[in-house]
Amino acid sequence: MNGEAPYPPMKTYSIATIPGDGIGKEVIPAGQRVLQTLADASERFRLVFEDFGWGGDHYRQHGLMMPADGLDQLRSKDAILFGSAGDPHIPDHITLWGLRLKICQGFDQYANVRPTRILPGIDAPLKRCTPADLDWVIVRENSEGEYAGVGGRVHQGLPLEAATDVSVMTRTGVERIMRYAFRLAQSRPRKRLTVVTKSNAQRHAMVMWDEIAAQVATEFPDVHWDKELVDAATARMVNRPASLDTLVATNLHADILSDLAAALAGSLGIAPTGNIDPERRFPSMFEPIHGSAFDIMGLGLANPVGTFWSCVMLLEHLGEADAAQTLMQAIEHTTADTRLHTRDLGGTATTAEVTDAVCARVRAMAPARSPKPVPH
Ligand code: NAD
Ligand code: MN
Repeated sequence: MNGEAPYPPMKTYSIATIPGDGIGKEVIPAGQRVLQTLADASERFRLVFEDFGWGGDHYRQHGLMMPADGLDQLRSKDAILFGSAGDPHIPDHITLWGLRLKICQGFDQYANVRPTRILPGIDAPLKRCTPADLDWVIVRENSEGEYAGVGGRVHQGLPLEAATDVSVMTRTGVERIMRYAFRLAQSRPRKRLTVVTKSNAQRHAMVMWDEIAAQVATEFPDVHWDKELVDAATARMVNRPASLDTLVATNLHADILSDLAAALAGSLGIAPTGNIDPERRFPSMFEPIHGSAFDIMGLGLANPVGTFWSCVMLLEHLGEADAAQTLMQAIEHTTADTRLHTRDLGGTATTAEVTDAVCARVRAMAPARSPKPVPH
């Protein structure tokens, strides 16, 4: 046929949406609208969404954040878009362990990936930092370590009450996250990895962490890597942001560092994350890093950009690089216009206005659909 590329078959991806609690119920429908707009403009793929009303309301009705067979309901999906878990009337450890961590651990999403950049139009707090100085990806170990859930509590309420949260690290767990981080660093232009540690004070597991980092490093001779203690890493993020590119850290350390990273990039409301199963045995889950934001829930003030950027990561994971790039450009075009900033960025725009603007931009950027080839 005239030497043209064959018309590619349309792919169908099934996406689970789990808004969860608080502003999750506002930003996830916004993310779904943006994804649907991309799919409508695409000749490559369509999306089929299934919404799961799990979270605090489900807990009040059934005593569980998600049904006992919840993982089975998600297993066949191509990806999950998650809002946030956290309800003002339910203890945080119940909402977190009953939903988000159940999915992360049940699907062995051991790599939590958190890109940070200063988007156009965003006034970031570091005075001497240009947007080019801050372009990081934090890789968080997402399956064990300080959040392994190992520990206990005895003699509650008595003077001899005792409680432990034991950090558990395994050679398998550390090796696989190091390998993921080195590979990611290798794929980025600067090929630079900082291994965050605390092996001066934590002299067992973190020493093993350092040893495994050095071992895995030998597989990646083209990656420049260094080691930084976690406390020093916070200061380096503020004082020498351009010296960092890819970082790898434990579950707890990276949890804290990535909130700092989000704030340095302008707002918690912008930052995205992916909970990735690199082996693709299970669906991976994408979510804004912020929580339920009780103080603004129901007011239409939530910044949906963190969710939109998470949708970019979701599309990249599905292999839809063009759609991912279109969406990222639409997001940047929107943040560049300060009239479209939500309150967390010092503006007055609503969730709906930002969503409308991104959708309009996606439509404007979409290539005119080429006609289907006529068989002759
Ligand atoms: P939070 O992220 O909900 O809010 C912190 C501050 O940032 C608040 O002032 C909030 O208004 C603001 N903020 C957050 N996201 C925003 C957005 N998109 N647009 C505008 N402003 C935004 O953190 P928190 O207050 O520590 O936690 C509230 C609840 O959320 C808790 O129950 C917590 O356990 C839960 N939580 C869940 C997740 C998750 O599910 N991944 C993550 C963090 C917190
Ligand atoms: Mn966190």
